[in-house]
Amino acid sequence: MQTPRILHVDANNFFASCEEILSPALRGRALIVAGGRRQNGFVLSANRRAKQSGVKSGMACFMARRLCAELVVCPARVDAYKIISARMFAVMNRFSPLVVPVSIDEGFLDLSAEADGAARWRELSATILREVGLALSGGLANSRWLAKLATDAAKPGFLEVGAGTEKDFLSARDLRELSGIGESRAQALAALGARTFGDVAALPSMLLKDRFGIWGQKLWLFANGDWPEKLVAEARTRTMISRQKTFPFDVIDYGRVLQFGLAELKKLMEVLRREQLLPRELGIVVRFADFSEARAEHRFRAAQERDEIVCAMFAAKFRECVSGQTKSVRQLRVALWNLSPRPAQGLLFP
Ligand SMILES: [Mg+2]
Repeated sequence: MQTPRILHVDANNFFASCEEILSPALRGRALIVAGGRRQNGFVLSANRRAKQSGVKSGMACFMARRLCAELVVCPARVDAYKIISARMFAVMNRFSPLVVPVSIDEGFLDLSAEADGAARWRELSATILREVGLALSGGLANSRWLAKLATDAAKPGFLEVGAGTEKDFLSARDLRELSGIGESRAQALAALGARTFGDVAALPSMLLKDRFGIWGQKLWLFANGDWPEKLVAEARTRTMISRQKTFPFDVIDYGRVLQFGLAELKKLMEVLRREQLLPRELGIVVRFADFSEARAEHRFRAAQERDEIVCAMFAAKFRECVSGQTKSVRQLRVALWNLSPRPAQGLLFP
């Protein structure tokens, strides 16, 4: 297997940098993009000059003005920023066959096929600076999570976690740096004496497995630098996934048809998991031997990630379709749609 090399890139001070691109006269001045009801409430993004005066994202604007008298305050123009973001991703697509965006200014690139990933990063960041005007930070490692941690450690700048150095890179880092670890897990780990990845690596893996299940096992492998992970495509254009089966002979045993449908449904859920998507609606079409049809659909209150819940609803809807029927089944169709991307924390331990 080819060793995964994943590059994470994140534009520096993205909104503020966009304002500098849109209004070149503002370049070199301390500048913030402000949010809030009247777009002057709090700092969404500050450029380097403003940060040098102590201005930070999330700060109230009046505080920021107090720190920096000559501060330029720009209302957010997200539609214009989206166009700049699209230009940045267009360049990224020239540098890798697989680009997975995670937000307006952040994404992953698969560089596994590159002989020198760091050289590729230098080329990419220079091209985006020249053609789009954005400065980037980046991290290169053997998985998405590690690449993101590398970016956070490097910001503003670039860091490669070389093959074989993963455990060393992680050892002194705080577990809370891993986005998606959550407060309750961080506290449970602290109760075991683990505050850093190094602490986790030194614990017996069975202890983590007992306390946190599969997640704990993966965390232990990750902390030991032993969790390479290929980048998977997000099927951004997919709107529905379905399977249809015509039985070789008409089936009168509805229990068997249901078992078959559930197996198909699990395969669909597996594909969606790989594509980092969650379904919110499911549908069934049962076609009988006389070509009559029964259909049922269900919309969940929220996007569903658990197979059990989706399967239980499928079973209920299937029973609805065949209740009172005596005809044998010729064909079954299973479909999931209303797809949405998995929330970011789901990315960490797919
Ligand atoms: Mg950013």
